[in-house]
Amino acid sequence: MKGLRANSLIGISIAIFVLIAVSGLLIIYFTGNIEEDANAINSAGVIRGTIQRIAKLELNGTRSDEMILATDRLISEFLSHRIYFVEEGDKFQSAMGELNTSWEYFKDCVYSYRSSNTYENKLELIAISEKMWELCNETVKIAQYISEKKISYYKILLIFIVFILFILGIIIISLKIYVRDKLEYLTIHDVLTGVYNRLYFNEYLKNTMKDADRAGTSLCLVILDIDHFKKVNDSFGHHRGDCVLKEIAELTSKCIRQNDALARIGGEEFAIILTNTTSEGAMKVAEKVRQGIYDHSFTEVGKITISLGVALYKNGQSAEIFFKNADEALYRAKNNGRNRVEINL
Ligand code: GH3
Ligand code: MG
Ligand code: MG
Repeated sequence: MKGLRANSLIGISIAIFVLIAVSGLLIIYFTGNIEEDANAINSAGVIRGTIQRIAKLELNGTRSDEMILATDRLISEFLSHRIYFVEEGDKFQSAMGELNTSWEYFKDCVYSYRSSNTYENKLELIAISEKMWELCNETVKIAQYISEKKISYYKILLIFIVFILFILGIIIISLKIYVRDKLEYLTIHDVLTGVYNRLYFNEYLKNTMKDADRAGTSLCLVILDIDHFKKVNDSFGHHRGDCVLKEIAELTSKCIRQNDALARIGGEEFAIILTNTTSEGAMKVAEKVRQGIYDHSFTEVGKITISLGVALYKNGQSAEIFFKNADEALYRAKNNGRNRVEINL
């Protein structure tokens, strides 16, 4: 997750929202469909029972015209029912077609028996009512099978939605962590160079001073300023100037220890806080940085030099005085010809 960028996380979240919306619509559609199937199963059962009753009444000589009309209505309603999604839908459709044809024949048999209640007509009416019983059963069975299949699709869809929601939850948490980390990073880092910013430098300096007071260890501060940086901007443009600042930050980072803190404290000014370091040690580090930059050839610009001021912390000193001491040393380095290190003890 860490490597994923915010944009891709947002993209995935949008894709997941679309998936959830589509799944939601499918569930609504399925729910309606399953309800319709249940009605079809119910109608087939009612038709099956009514036909048997009509046959029984007619065979006993009782006319059942109202029931015939009601069944006509039920069957035409039943025929309008469509079953989608599964291959058995076609089977259901043809079973309904056959049911309808047999119903028409059943009615013919009823009317034939009414006009002449011969033994043959009686047998024919019994036979067709039996056939219709079978057909209704067949239709119910197919409709039930289709309905069960749809319900299993429905379950899979629900599991899918739960899974997708779970993934979405993870993405939202990752996004939150990403944004929090990004904000934390931006709060303490300089956007251009990636080293610490002035705000963090001030806080860090005070903390290291307290640590030095407590532990009695030595602490040094180095301030470095690019020489004639204005000329770089004037000759090569502001963008090239920015690139130089980045290169300076990179080169300086390479010359200091992991525990030392490098910050950009102004336009073209950087500071290094050297914990557990004596003034001799700090001079060495400052000299190493100066030499490193002096030896480097900057893209397009070529040679650039820096001046550095070093100060040694004294127990109980204020941050302002400590900083002022380093700044004064830097001022001396500038006055003494630049491209050099001066120390203020
Ligand atoms: P000196 O040797 O006395 O330090 O001379 P300088 O020209 O470096 O000093 P000065 O303070 O006169 O100019 C600093 C210049 O740094 C002025 C400004 O245009 C430039 N600068 C400050 N911040 C930025 C920045 O973020 N990007 C770029 N490209 N230039 C900057
Ligand atoms: Mg300056
Ligand atoms: Mg300068």
